[in-house]
Amino acid sequence: MTILIRNVRIFDGTSLSDQTGAVLIEGDRIARIATGEGALADCDAARVIDGHGGTLMPGLVDAHTHLALGSSVEVMGRPGNFPDDVLALTAAHCARVMLDHGFTSAYSGGSSSPGVEIALKAAIDKGQVPGPRLVTSSFERLPGGMPGLLFKFPGRDVRESNPAAVTHFVEEMAGIGLQAVKFLLNGVSAMDAGSNMNEQFYEDEILAAGEAARKAGVWLTAHCYTADAIKIAIKAGFRVIYHCNYADDEALDMIEAAKGDIFVGLAPGIEEADRDRAPKFGMMASPEQVAEQAAAVEHKIRVGQELRKRGVRSLPGGDYGFPQNPVGLNARDLELFVEWFGYTPAEALHTATALGGVLMDMELGQVKEGFLADLLLVDGDPTQDISTLKNKDNLRMIMKGGALYKAPAA
Ligand SMILES: [Zn+2]
Repeated sequence: MTILIRNVRIFDGTSLSDQTGAVLIEGDRIARIATGEGALADCDAARVIDGHGGTLMPGLVDAHTHLALGSSVEVMGRPGNFPDDVLALTAAHCARVMLDHGFTSAYSGGSSSPGVEIALKAAIDKGQVPGPRLVTSSFERLPGGMPGLLFKFPGRDVRESNPAAVTHFVEEMAGIGLQAVKFLLNGVSAMDAGSNMNEQFYEDEILAAGEAARKAGVWLTAHCYTADAIKIAIKAGFRVIYHCNYADDEALDMIEAAKGDIFVGLAPGIEEADRDRAPKFGMMASPEQVAEQAAAVEHKIRVGQELRKRGVRSLPGGDYGFPQNPVGLNARDLELFVEWFGYTPAEALHTATALGGVLMDMELGQVKEGFLADLLLVDGDPTQDISTLKNKDNLRMIMKGGALYKAPAA
């Protein structure tokens, strides 16, 4: 199937064309791009879409996704110790909601169960259920014997903590076909008051995880708040590092030195949600927790601005999936890149598209000949007003792999 999209301004993943143009899609790829009046008018496409001067841009990439925590903008639900069949259906629901909001790719920040994301990814790739392209992750590993979170992911509760056990865990997760393995190097204050500041693993365990991941060919993902946790993660070769609120100057220098190898996911969305909305849901409501969260936001703003200045690959993806921060609000992260971290709207879009494609390790995230045709047609200009992307009604077309998931009205 060939589709010609004409009369659009093209945001290619870096900047917006100043004149209108046209893009030809053949199969699942972008075949030709041209600008100027009458561009590609000679093409013989099976379907022609008139963009009416709207913005054609790459589909969005979310770098910190949880599909089975239970809450979307359509259905609220608390995280819980649910069996795999329930988690799988929840994840399928949230995957569809993400695609409805223009997110054509998602990098998992931790599954709720080892098998669910593998099954979901296979179902999405076969076209059985709608959803973004998915990089799958293990569940979020705590050290054994810790009191841990208020809920336990299936199969997670009894695990030893020592270098050999951590190595075995990475091998086990790689063995079932997961692409990334996640470690909670610090606690989660939202579930275990004050624990963001607790370091949960010894350095030899994390270095062993790095060694095992390199051997097994999987990526490592770290939940990090403290400077020491960030430093250990970088030393161990983690690919994706989340949160980073309390990075000190040495941690920032290490992040900068590793910037060709790592991605940082600051997840501003969850930080704002925990500060402004969690207490309404009975979470983080004590005076100490409210104060901790207000300070956490201030630290994050400083770190986010610093990483932008240092040219670090800092990507949007805000831990959406909790009641105070449901899946479907994901584009709020782009807005927070602008409001908190000082990005221009075009820079924020670049992180969610071109850099997101590098994170996914696929030929996507750019409007570029030969790349996968994951494309959005947006009413308006998100390089002027990034908030345009928060309203899914502004997405006139959502295309994934050359297939129209949402076709524009004629
Ligand atoms: Zn997370």
